[in-house]
Amino acid sequence: MPEKTIDRRTLLASLATSAAGVALSQHSSAGTRVAADSHGIKNWDIITDVLVAGSGAAGISAAIDARRGGADVLVVEKLNKLGGSSALSGGVIYAGGGTALQKALGFTDSVESMYHYIAHSGRKHPHLDKIQRYCEQSVAHFDWLVDNGVPYNKLFSDGKGLGFDEASLYYSGSEEAWPWRDECRPAPRGHVPWEKGHQGGKRLMRSLLASAKKLGVKTQKRVSGERLVVESDGRVTGMLVDIRGERMAIKAKRGIVLACGGFIHNREMVKLYAPELYDCSVPWANAGDLGIGIQMGMGAGAGALRMDQGFAIGPIYPPENTIAGIAVNQMGQRLTSEEGYHAVMGNVVTYKQDGIAYFICDKDSDRPQGDDNQPLVAKANTIKELEQKAGFPVGSLQMSVNYYNEHAKNGEDPMFHKSKKYLSPIDKPPFKVYDLSVDKTMYSSHTFGGLHTNVDSQVINVWGEVINGLYAAGRNTSGLPTSPYIASGISVGDCTFFGRQAGQHAAANKS
Ligand SMILES: Cc1cc2nc3c(=O)[nH]c(=O)nc-3n(C[C@H](O)[C@H](O)[C@H](O)COP(=O)(O)OP(=O)(O)OC[C@H]3O[C@@H](n4cnc5c(N)ncnc54)[C@H](O)[C@@H]3O)c2cc1C
Repeated sequence: MPEKTIDRRTLLASLATSAAGVALSQHSSAGTRVAADSHGIKNWDIITDVLVAGSGAAGISAAIDARRGGADVLVVEKLNKLGGSSALSGGVIYAGGGTALQKALGFTDSVESMYHYIAHSGRKHPHLDKIQRYCEQSVAHFDWLVDNGVPYNKLFSDGKGLGFDEASLYYSGSEEAWPWRDECRPAPRGHVPWEKGHQGGKRLMRSLLASAKKLGVKTQKRVSGERLVVESDGRVTGMLVDIRGERMAIKAKRGIVLACGGFIHNREMVKLYAPELYDCSVPWANAGDLGIGIQMGMGAGAGALRMDQGFAIGPIYPPENTIAGIAVNQMGQRLTSEEGYHAVMGNVVTYKQDGIAYFICDKDSDRPQGDDNQPLVAKANTIKELEQKAGFPVGSLQMSVNYYNEHAKNGEDPMFHKSKKYLSPIDKPPFKVYDLSVDKTMYSSHTFGGLHTNVDSQVINVWGEVINGLYAAGRNTSGLPTSPYIASGISVGDCTFFGRQAGQHAAANKS
C-alpha cells in the first residue's frame, strides 16, 4: 500500500491548528513552541509594522534600521531591563578592512585579509556568504556605530586581551599567532567603545538605545514573546506574548525579528543540544538567555544549525608571563599554542579533550598569587615529582616538558610555533600544575547555535525556503560565531550587523 504523504504546508497548518488554544505554558523547557494559527486570533491587542523580540545588540540594531526604513517599530523585552547580554559584555566589535579608527591609528588592513582570517581559522565550513558581506561592509558598519553615538578613543593597546584601560583598538584574536600570522596579514580589529574597565558593552547599548529612542522606536519591558502566529500559507504575521501574566496578541504588518539571544541558561536545552557546554562552570549571559526565540522559530518550521557549538574559555592569561607555561591533557601531552585567543584553546579543551586539561608552569610562568580561578593540583621541585603527585602517566609529562625546553632555549617551538617572546624553558622550581578543566576552573560559556538565516537575516525553514515575515539575528541565529571562536568581537559584530539586515528587510517587506 502506498504511504500517505503530507506536504509541508499542510503539516505546518496542522501543527498550527493543533496548537491553537494550547496554554502558553504547556511546553517542555527544551521543546519547540508550536506556532499558533492566525484563525484562532479574534482580536489583535497591538498592531505595529515591525515587532522585535529582545533588546540586546541584535534587537536594537534591527529596530534602528527598521525605523530608518520608515516602519513603526515595537521592541518587547522579557526582563525588567533593556540591553541583554550585550550590555554585560566587553562591547568589543570585530571590524576591519580599513575602519576610520584603524586608519587614524596608522594601521593598514584589507577586506581580503579580514575575510581570510575569519573564513579560514580552523572552522569547518563556516557561513562564507555571511562572512563576505560582513567584511565587505565592515568599514561602513563601523561608521554606522559612530553615527549612532558609540564613542571610540583614538588609542591602541598592544596588550594581550581586553584591557582595563581606555584604548579602543587591540588585537582581539589570534592574528599574531601561528599559523594565522603567516597566512593573512595581521591587523588589530577589536574595536572597543570608549569606557574604562571592561564596560564597553554598557556604553555600546547606552548609545544604541538612546539612538533608537530618538528615532521613535517604542520599547516595552517585561513582555515575553511566547509563540509566533502563522497564516495558513506559512507566513508569520504575529506573536503571542505574555505581559506580566496576561496573554496578548501582537500583529506585525511587515515582519517580526527574533533577537532573543542564545540558550545557555536553559539547562535542558544545553544538555540536549550542546552537551559539551553543559559542565562548563559559568553560563555566561543575562538571565533571558533561555532559547525562547529559537524555540519560537522552530515552532514555525525554522531550521536550527550548529546547535552544539559555543564559546567556552578558561583563560590562562593575563598576565602575559603565564604564556610561557604549557597546557597539557590528562596524558601530559601539549595541546595547542598557549598564545592563541582564549576560545581557541577553550575549543580544544571543551570539544576535543572531554573538558579536561592542565596548566604546567615554573616560578617565572606561574599564575598570580591570590588568583584562585584555577585550582592548584600539585606543586613540586622537579617535573618527575610533579608528574607523580598530579597522577600523569609515568614519563609523560617529563617527555613533554623536556621536548618543550630543548627547543624553547633556542627560541623555537616546532610543535605549535609559539612566538619567540613567549618562549622560555620551564626549568625554575617550584613547578606547579593548575586545573584547566571545564568544571573545575572558572570556565565561561555561551551558545552559538540558532536559527538558520540567510544574508538578509530572513529565517529559513527546514525545507530550505524563506519563511515570509520572519527575521532573526544575533545569538538567536547561527551566524558568524562558530567553534572555534577565533576573536573577541565577532559575536557583537554579527549581532549589530545582521540585526541591521533584519531591520532593513523587515521594514521593506510590504507584501
Ligand atoms: C561578560 C561577557 C562579556 C562578553 N564580551 C563580548 C565582547 O566583548 N564581544 C563580543 O562579541 N561578545 C561578547 N560577549 C558575548 C555577547 O555579549 C553576546 O553573544 C551578545 O551580546 C548577544 O547579543 P544578542 O543581541 O543576540 O542577545 P542579548 O544581548 O542577550 O539580547 C537578547 C535579549 O532578549 C531577551 N529575551 C529573551 N527571550 C525573550 C522573549 N521571549 N521575549 C522578549 N525578550 C526576550 C533577553 O532578556 C535579552 O535581553 C560577552 C558575553 C558576556 C556574558
